[in-house]
Amino acid sequence: MRPLIVQKYGGSSLATSDKIKNVAYRLMKEKEKDVDLVVVLSAMGKTTDTLISLAQEISPRPCKRELDMLLSTGEQVSVSLLSMAIKELGGQAISLNAMQANILTDSFHSESQILDIDTQRIKTHLQEGKIVIITGYQGLNKEKDITTLGRGGSDLSAVALAVALKAQCCKILTDVSGVYTADPRIVSDARCLKKITYEEMLELASMGAKVLHARSVELAQRYDLEVYVKSSFDEQNAGTLIEKDVKKMEEITITGVALNKNEAKVTLVGVPDRPGMAAEVFTCLAEANINIDIIIQNVSVEGFTDISFTVKEEDLHVTILVSKEAVRDLEAKEVIFKKNVSKLTLVGVGMRRHSGIAAKMFRCLADKNINIEMISTSEIKISCVIDQDKGDLAVQALHKAFELEKS
Ligand code: ADP
Ligand code: ASP
Ligand code: MG
Repeated sequence: MRPLIVQKYGGSSLATSDKIKNVAYRLMKEKEKDVDLVVVLSAMGKTTDTLISLAQEISPRPCKRELDMLLSTGEQVSVSLLSMAIKELGGQAISLNAMQANILTDSFHSESQILDIDTQRIKTHLQEGKIVIITGYQGLNKEKDITTLGRGGSDLSAVALAVALKAQCCKILTDVSGVYTADPRIVSDARCLKKITYEEMLELASMGAKVLHARSVELAQRYDLEVYVKSSFDEQNAGTLIEKDVKKMEEITITGVALNKNEAKVTLVGVPDRPGMAAEVFTCLAEANINIDIIIQNVSVEGFTDISFTVKEEDLHVTILVSKEAVRDLEAKEVIFKKNVSKLTLVGVGMRRHSGIAAKMFRCLADKNINIEMISTSEIKISCVIDQDKGDLAVQALHKAFELEKS
């Protein structure tokens, strides 16, 4: 049996017809190695952003079912064009959308989870010797409505297909050479990592390093799937391997720093301090499908407390509506919010055995006159909420202070 590899190409690698032709050429060369290839694609360039703007010209908060219907068209354009490009080069290929590839999801439009993939049809086309090209980011719920998996979700499609097809590995081909110690667009001397553990990659991805979708890392970890992040332009570069082996990495204290710019901070002021209050507030938010991140409850003064938390900026509007209702029900004082905040996170498995990392991080930020508004820690990460316009400066300062450019 031929080895099977799943490759995923992101939007920037498919931004023009010439780039699509390059990908086709690259796949033809790969196919000469007698492998089976399943290729997952994002939409071309910034297509998804453009489609969202278009929808917002019609409706400021469009119906999510219709939005998914619209956004899924982006990926359909790229898979069909790539298939044509391969045929033009004399190869054999077939493009499939989520319905044809049988990718079943739940019905949470715009943030769906993959429930199952029936791989029969994909396998038949592979046996016919075809390169099978599948739309990323989309699925189909049981009513046969099109769903999407969340922004950046093509990584998740690729990993899920690799797991379902028992592929040898999954390669994420993108516009940088791999996973770096920080976003190379913010830190010019950021270092490309040869390897990183699932655990660390999951923290970096969840905290804003968009080179991989966080849920794709979680899924790869659960099934022990080898994932490589590599450049789609530079074939020679080995890229980064994401795997579970920690032994070789124990010497390293800090692996990387991530920045999430699109955050907002919400505070419920004057909440009566009695059992069940936090449960009440966060149940309402959970029912509205809002993901909460850092939470801080202040000390109680005369029976009242303030509860602050962060949400994604795009969820702020709904969060405020829900929080205002909660404030009314609980007879709290008011809801205040701050838009332009960023979450800055330092990640490293080595933190488990080293003390003083937090102190060094806070000192470094203080030296740059950067105020810390909230702090949250886990075994392998420290996150701080700071002003959005200080984000890049903070990443650069931490990268330097922890000497992440040195291997
Ligand atoms: P694609 O279109 O291929 O899915 P993305 O734009 O989603 O690509 O992700 C790649 C981008 O992620 C890079 O261009 C880079 O700016 C950003 N990025 C953020 N943090 C990191 C990091 N630690 N390592 C590499 N890239 C990162
Ligand atoms: N095209 C989708 C997006 O821009 C999915 C992806 O690129 O992974 O979010
Ligand atoms: Mg991406």
